[in-house]
Amino acid sequence: MDCHHCRIGKFQPTKIAYYSPINEHLMVIPNVPAYQCDVCGITDYDEIFMLRLHYLIDKLTGKEPDLSMDEWQPRTEPTHQWPSERSR
Ligand SMILES: [Zn+2]
Repeated sequence: MDCHHCRIGKFQPTKIAYYSPINEHLMVIPNVPAYQCDVCGITDYDEIFMLRLHYLIDKLTGKEPDLSMDEWQPRTEPTHQWPSERSR
């Protein structure tokens, strides 16, 4: 994976600490999977891990996970209507 910052280096897998403010507390999670550029040193968290982590944090803090699944459900009623039906 190429670095999106300097576009020269390559991301190497590493482990860094992640800081997340929850309510008034600061949660520190050590050894979070991340990537670090071997040229400029910029770090990027593992995307899938972050998604799972935020899902967990939402559950722990009692927030409903913001998953709008409505759009994923197939429509049971046909949406196609004929407006010219009553002009007969
Ligand atoms: Zn870089």
